[in-house]
Amino acid sequence: MDFDVIVIGSGFGGAITACRLAEANYKVLILERGRRWDKSTYPRRPEDQWLWNNDHPEKEQGWLDFHAFPHMSVATGAAVGGGSLIYANISCEAPPNTFDAGWPKEITYAEIKPHYDTVAKFMNVQKVPGNQWTNRMKLMKEAADKTGAGDRFKQLELAVSFDADFTYDQPNPFNVVNSKRYVNAQGVEQGTCVHLGNCDIGCDADAKNTLDRNYIPWAEKHGAEVRPLHLVTDVQPVDGGYKVSFDRLENGQRLPGSQTARIVVVSAGSLGSTELLLRCREVNGTLPNVSPFLGRNWSSNGDFLTPAFYDNRAVDPSIGPTITCAIDFLDRSCDGQSFWIEDGGFPNFVIDYLNRIDSAPIKNAAAKLLLDAFRHLMQGDEPFRNVMPWFAQGVDAANGTLSIHHSLLTGEPCLNLAWDIGKSRQAIDAIVAMHLKLAAATGGHPVVPPTLSLLHSLVTPHPLGGCGMGDTQLNGVVNHAGEVFNYKNLYVVDAAIIPEALGVNPSRTIGALAERCAAIIRTEAR
Ligand SMILES: Cc1cc2nc3c(=O)[nH]c(=O)nc-3n(C[C@H](O)[C@H](O)[C@H](O)COP(=O)(O)OP(=O)(O)OC[C@H]3O[C@@H](n4cnc5c(N)ncnc54)[C@H](O)[C@@H]3O)c2cc1C
Ligand code: SF4
Repeated sequence: MDFDVIVIGSGFGGAITACRLAEANYKVLILERGRRWDKSTYPRRPEDQWLWNNDHPEKEQGWLDFHAFPHMSVATGAAVGGGSLIYANISCEAPPNTFDAGWPKEITYAEIKPHYDTVAKFMNVQKVPGNQWTNRMKLMKEAADKTGAGDRFKQLELAVSFDADFTYDQPNPFNVVNSKRYVNAQGVEQGTCVHLGNCDIGCDADAKNTLDRNYIPWAEKHGAEVRPLHLVTDVQPVDGGYKVSFDRLENGQRLPGSQTARIVVVSAGSLGSTELLLRCREVNGTLPNVSPFLGRNWSSNGDFLTPAFYDNRAVDPSIGPTITCAIDFLDRSCDGQSFWIEDGGFPNFVIDYLNRIDSAPIKNAAAKLLLDAFRHLMQGDEPFRNVMPWFAQGVDAANGTLSIHHSLLTGEPCLNLAWDIGKSRQAIDAIVAMHLKLAAATGGHPVVPPTLSLLHSLVTPHPLGGCGMGDTQLNGVVNHAGEVFNYKNLYVVDAAIIPEALGVNPSRTIGALAERCAAIIRTEAR
């Protein structure tokens, strides 16, 4: 075998599992389809490569993979470090009662809690310091107080490095020159946050504690090899392990290759891992015995955003960390639904970008409608300063199904998501009602996106499930340790194994599961 372990994908599942196995002296290879980025290469102009091209990945390798399915659009990361490069840095635990039902019996909150703590420490999570509250945080607190939910307001932990001395009360505060350089616990140089508001498009101050600044360099220090621009196409059992086939994306070409390992960890994300196993089972025929449950119980994590416009109030959604706090209704006290409201934010750049791209070639009706509506809403002299993007996650029905279809145009197999708002309607309606209430209490004019009212269509950056954990292959694809039923030493470790909606930002839970799975793999006799 070429390696002890091959890890496919380098997001929260892959980077953390690879790191812990490399620390334990396994010979680890990480195959990642995306590029390795740093602030000198981040896309910044509309003509830069932002998007991952699923039809022709050899041509475009942007860091945002956007899938527009009939009633659900899904945004995910494609990069060394996965979604962490473009995420909003919120790192939180799921509520303890999440684990009471729907999870394998081995996983309880008490059992997973130490792993949550390990992730939080390794990613150096922090709250926005008291002297650096953004206008959106103040609006959130005011809205909570005015609606009688003051005790539900909470600051969230962020994987961001803050400087307690930073203040808005200085000339030109939001400038990288005010960021202090330091070396983090993994020996990587970073800077402190100066509230540039670019968290979702890469931080020019290096203040985001992304996976390529902690777990991945730590894995490399312990001998792991990372190969970017390697798109895995197949996993096949061979004597004593697995052969992993990939296409190297180089000079506009797909160059095939393969490596072998005793253990394979599929960590390509909810869509990526499910698609790879579906292709192995149904197209390539290399993993025919993967559970019939594959693709089922997919969840959008109940994500929803309602913009509200404020007369004469600077909300400044493009200043400060993208998300910072929540108003917590996870106790089901509101219409029996479990959700929390967060502040959202947008980089200034987004408006310019939206205005410059042409929506005409976009074939998906929901994506086109959303883009046009957004553009329309942002017209005006000061299109941005007065907008509060009221954001939320909630516990939806987790009843989507991922499958492989054949494209009507090309005949090629491609991923499809069947999702219907039906059973999730109550959760989304409760979120929208709360957005309207909070906006009204603070003098805002909310606009419910027409994609919901007209097309019953949503957008999520938090896809979960597809290879859910279960007790047997009748109700899952992998067991509590992430091992695929019927395939020894083949694991899935990422958002795909989460068996139901969390109703909160998922990255720390994915990370904690990865810490736990790696700890279980390390106990094997070698
Ligand atoms: C804009 C945005 C903001 C977000 N904000 C937050 C937040 O604030 N807090 C939070 O908790 N979560 C947030 N999320 C969600 C979070 O990023 C994801 O839940 C998380 O990254 C999922 O981790 P993962 O390991 O499952 O997959 P990913 O992080 O998506 O990693 C999967 C990796 O596998 C690679 N891959 C896929 N297919 C293949 C293949 N065939 N071969 C090789 N490599 C492959 C991908 O390129 C990717 O790098 C956000 C997401 C987005 C898009
Ligand atoms: S607010 Fe700006 S400086 Fe702070 S983490 Fe986000 S992008 Fe970096």
